[in-house]
Amino acid sequence: MNKKIWLSSPHLTGEEQKYVTEAFETNWVAPLGPNVNGLEQDICNYTGAKACSALSSGTGAIHLALIMLGIEEDDEVLCSSFTFSATANPIRYQKAIPIFIDSEKDTWNMSPELLETAIQDRIEKGKKPKAIILVHLYGMPSKMEELMAIANKYKIPVIEDAAEAIGATYQEKAMGTFGELGVFSFNGNKIITTSGGGALVSDNKKYIQKSIFLSTQARDDAPHYQHSQIGYNYRMSNIVAGIGRGQMEVLDDRVEARRKVFDFYKNELSQFKSITFVEEPQGFYANRWLTTILTDSFETREKIRLALEKENIESRPLWKPMHLQPVFKEFPAYTDGTSQDLFKKGLCLPSGSNLTLDDLERVVKGVKKAI
Ligand SMILES: *Cc1c(COP(=O)(O)O)cnc(C)c1O
Repeated sequence: MNKKIWLSSPHLTGEEQKYVTEAFETNWVAPLGPNVNGLEQDICNYTGAKACSALSSGTGAIHLALIMLGIEEDDEVLCSSFTFSATANPIRYQKAIPIFIDSEKDTWNMSPELLETAIQDRIEKGKKPKAIILVHLYGMPSKMEELMAIANKYKIPVIEDAAEAIGATYQEKAMGTFGELGVFSFNGNKIITTSGGGALVSDNKKYIQKSIFLSTQARDDAPHYQHSQIGYNYRMSNIVAGIGRGQMEVLDDRVEARRKVFDFYKNELSQFKSITFVEEPQGFYANRWLTTILTDSFETREKIRLALEKENIESRPLWKPMHLQPVFKEFPAYTDGTSQDLFKKGLCLPSGSNLTLDDLERVVKGVKKAI
């Protein structure tokens, strides 16, 4: 059997070990310490955000972002439907109501037209949405100019789920820095990883201070343990942050490598009429976390996926939209069939920055054989 080719596997450099060893040697094996502060500084320097809190996951970061914006029971939160469930779950942690918005066809991210339709309709129905969570899926920036114009027009704060998009930019500004708050993930399959972890960024330092306070069990300033608010255990540990510091050093290399993977597939496969790729509109710079293809039918998609599986190559259908998920189907959704169609016909190809030319050629051969 050929060696397994994964969709996206961790790609360490060895430099991570330096920071982790430092943490061991100085006995900073706790959810605070110099690596945590260092990683937060690195993320601020890289993205241009004014403040950052390193957390135990991207999901926790989204949850805290909603709390910062005061989201409570029965509040309505507009949310991209075409995403991973971790974008929407924290809305329910707060017992708030997700209102799902479909994608547009250029970037596959939130449709500005449907966003405005939804806002107007929710207001007409008697309740103005309290927040917007928009996602830069697969590392492709959303149409920020249009989306932010609508958010500003109706004065609704934006949370950017940039879990898949660290390193991507829109008109040279980092994803995660357009909204009130931005979220990154360092889970094992993301473009850089800490094994598991996340971060919250904002230009509003008060949000970040408060998120750190809440992520460490909301302890009041007292010699004993005193609490006036419900807290969470969401802080990143100093060991994990050490891995993150090593990974931040190579983030640009990782983006470059993933973009080369995309270029390779595009060169090899765009000759086929049944396969198309998502291009970057002018001013959009994707990190190409995963290379995705759109085929001409569900049958073609499945033929390719099963052929690759037979060759011991992992590929995966695109995210199943949230408005079609059993757990969210009761919630309102503003859709036009775009994400449903993408789900039916789209496929993620192996995209790790550590894939060899041999690996990529095997994938391409598998796809060609299938079609
Ligand atoms: C990975 C991911 C998350 C969650 O991040 P975790 O660190 O795994 O909790 C949220 N949103 C999107 C779009 C993701 O891909």
